[in-house]
Amino acid sequence: MTATKQFEAESKRLLDIMINSIYSQKEIFMRELISNASDAIDKMYYKALTDDSITFNPDDFYIKVSTDADNRILKMEDTGVGMTREELEENLGTIAKSGSLAFKNENEIEDGHDIIGQFGVGFYSAFMVADNVTVYTKSAESQEAFKWESNGAEGYTVEPAEKENHGTEIYIKVKESGEEESYEEYLDESHLQTIIKKYSDYIRYPILMDVTEQQPKEDNEEETVEVTEEKAINSMIPLWKKNRDELSDEDYEAFYQERRYGFDKPLKHVHLDIDGQVRYQAVLFIPEQPPFDYYSAEFEKGLELYSNGVLIMEKCADLLPDYFSFVKGIVDSEDLSLNISREMLQHDRQLRLIAKNIKSKIRNQLQSMLKNERENYETFYQSFGRQLKFGMQMDYGSHTDDLKDLLLFYSSKEQKMVSLAEYVERMKEDQQYIYYASGDSVDRIEKLPQTEMVRDKGYEILYFTEDIDEFAIRMLSSYEDKEFKSVASGDLGIEDEEEEEQEKNEQEENKDLFEAIKNQLDGKVSDVRASKRLKSHPVCLAADGEISIEMEKILQQMPD
Ligand code: ADP
Ligand code: MG
Repeated sequence: MTATKQFEAESKRLLDIMINSIYSQKEIFMRELISNASDAIDKMYYKALTDDSITFNPDDFYIKVSTDADNRILKMEDTGVGMTREELEENLGTIAKSGSLAFKNENEIEDGHDIIGQFGVGFYSAFMVADNVTVYTKSAESQEAFKWESNGAEGYTVEPAEKENHGTEIYIKVKESGEEESYEEYLDESHLQTIIKKYSDYIRYPILMDVTEQQPKEDNEEETVEVTEEKAINSMIPLWKKNRDELSDEDYEAFYQERRYGFDKPLKHVHLDIDGQVRYQAVLFIPEQPPFDYYSAEFEKGLELYSNGVLIMEKCADLLPDYFSFVKGIVDSEDLSLNISREMLQHDRQLRLIAKNIKSKIRNQLQSMLKNERENYETFYQSFGRQLKFGMQMDYGSHTDDLKDLLLFYSSKEQKMVSLAEYVERMKEDQQYIYYASGDSVDRIEKLPQTEMVRDKGYEILYFTEDIDEFAIRMLSSYEDKEFKSVASGDLGIEDEEEEEQEKNEQEENKDLFEAIKNQLDGKVSDVRASKRLKSHPVCLAADGEISIEMEKILQQMPD
């Protein structure tokens, strides 16, 4: 007996959104299904290489695409790991996790192209062109095969089926063309070839199709005959193994999207081919936007890790320091052993060398962006600057050398973001300190009485508008031998002698008044003094110790 199971409620809604809002990019369902097939073969390949009980022949790994136009069927077949009944239910029964849907609702995404990549709802994109999808699959772990079938939003059925070898076959029943939409191209083999070349050229397993061509007759070169041959449509060279000079920005962007690294356009890519102490190739991306869960506990950093073209790990966290956790990409090294367990990877010397090398490549890349592509860098900093500042504080400040030159703060003088190096370069000759002021916003800081006087004397001030700014900076006691000084601190190093004298006199003259004020404030302040710092404000609070008033506020909010 087969009962129809309902999709989870939110899966249904997402499916609706997808089918109804994605018009321009229907063809990417091919890319999604092929990439699933390739992932499944990757897993099988890994199994075969690491498990002696599995005999394998590289020719056994392929993806095959075919059509049956009369019955409006597009078929995709792979020789990957397949799925057990449980995996079928789990993987094809729920579309996306709640976080993703919340994200979609919060951020009106117009171009549906992006939704798919972001949500890992790849499989369901088939319903953009299908009335019905039927999946036959047999897991490499099991003797039983199953059939999964669905008409889309209604739900799905799963029942036992017959299938000889492990792997998956997907039958897509292509929609009838209507007045506005045509679906015929998905039954047209030469069009399908074009789509495969466009999106999946680098897939490392052959994507086979029966290709019919006119060929000259053997005995008579003048005449031609139709010959049908099974051919690989893709070039099969992974992007990271290709020559940089042969690749365009578009190729990298397509790869970024294909690998589901993000829904944005990457700001920058770095293509490495390192032949040093350890050999590896890598393609790394600096995204433009943080993923929706980036600043949450759910976010998992990591790069895809391959050993000579074989996937070892989808998210290798050890390859990235936390402060560069926004980087996406893939690393392939022939020096890594395939059999290495995931626990052992952490201690692998080669891997540590790669990680160290990657860290400095990313840092250099960011530094050169800051120097040569200011606007892009500021976009990047908007998205990920906070993470860099966290990095300043990590491990007792041991990464500050890598990070201090990547920081930007708002400058009172330039009225835009500036780096510490830029600040120091502009310092006045007699200036002892790098001045900063903390507050909730540029506007609020601008109005602080303490900033007024320092600004009026012609000194530049860095505005710390984020709660972590001051903590980050305190990890550096100085920058190029210049100490940092909060404008709210007692001794600013810019009072001149005459003024100090005056202050002293006024202090004496008004001793009784100040004493009275102090008593009135009842222990809330440690002292009341005359000040020359005030311009348009009658009074201001000054911190006496090491810690600024803003920082004290934060410390008080922190749980003990
Ligand atoms: P994603 O690929 O982002 O995980 P998909 O919706 O594309 O999301 O696929 C969901 C899951 O279904 C995959 O993670 C995989 O476990 C399983 N799956 C999909 N297609 C195949 C296939 N051809 N062979 C084996 N498993 C598959
Ligand atoms: Mg997928």
